[in-house]
Amino acid sequence: MKLLHRSRIALIALLLVLSTLFASCNLLPGFLETTPQTDNGFGTTPPATDHTTPPENNQTVPSGEPFAGPFGVEIPAYSGNLFVKVNNGTPFFENSEYTTKSYERYSNLDSLGRCGVAMACVGKDLMPTGDRGSISEVTPSGWWQATYDTVDGKYLYNRSHLIGWQLSGEDANEKNLITGTRSFNQLGMLPFENMVADYVKETNNHVLYRVTPVYVGNELVARGVLMEALSVEDDGDGICFNVFVYNNEPGIVIDYTTGRSYLEGEESQKPDGGEAVKYIANTNPSSMKFHKPDCSSVAKMSEKNKLEIVATREQMIADGYKPCGICNP
Ligand SMILES: [Zn+2]
Repeated sequence: MKLLHRSRIALIALLLVLSTLFASCNLLPGFLETTPQTDNGFGTTPPATDHTTPPENNQTVPSGEPFAGPFGVEIPAYSGNLFVKVNNGTPFFENSEYTTKSYERYSNLDSLGRCGVAMACVGKDLMPTGDRGSISEVTPSGWWQATYDTVDGKYLYNRSHLIGWQLSGEDANEKNLITGTRSFNQLGMLPFENMVADYVKETNNHVLYRVTPVYVGNELVARGVLMEALSVEDDGDGICFNVFVYNNEPGIVIDYTTGRSYLEGEESQKPDGGEAVKYIANTNPSSMKFHKPDCSSVAKMSEKNKLEIVATREQMIADGYKPCGICNP
């Protein structure tokens, strides 16, 4: 996630608001007296959790209704707020997860190519010392990019880190990047990441940190992420929050099934029917063909014109693409 220049006043204001919001956190008073688990099975390069089993539910929840989050939490429908506090702001970490040893771990992508829970114990030694690398080669699930004049920077979607770059230094890690709106990334997640980063830099303490993307049924775009954080050495006095950050953009309707989006009021143009599959589209205006991924034409296509899309055939045609005559998608 991009580090923005922040004014000191804005930061202090934010911290004041957040400290009031999350004043209820003081989790495990006995923690410092008990011996921290020296090895939770994570080690310094812990194995990624296997989350490759397909999702069990096929629920569909229209936007405007609550949906199920992790830990049995019901997430209220988006109502214009960037985030909501969950469990009174207290994270769901368990005793056995407490450690003062830095680590990071990521879930394997599931059968739909989606990210799972990402967890870290953030310490100074985990934070990057070099420059950011490129992440544009990663195509997260539901990556159907679009531009709108109302969106800051025009592009609706950012490749959004689950564990922010400033915390773990991960660049093009496909297990750590989801399709997120500009507002979600820059206004929703970033202030929380900044808090954690500032705290770790100032104290040299550790922060237990978990980000869980929440998908409804087989949707390819997350409805948002649950962000949990707790400072370890001071038992949450410095950092303690549990929030759900919404993956929404004001004025834009997102089809979470595909990643396709519409200006509010124009979703009636949305075509439906058919099953969403992966296509490779040629975005060159002189082509505008779409192909099956294994079509021989795909290999010849210039990289800059190549766009990977998960969509129904009808959606591709409605978007102005023509089916290729070789592979007959
Ligand atoms: Zn083709």
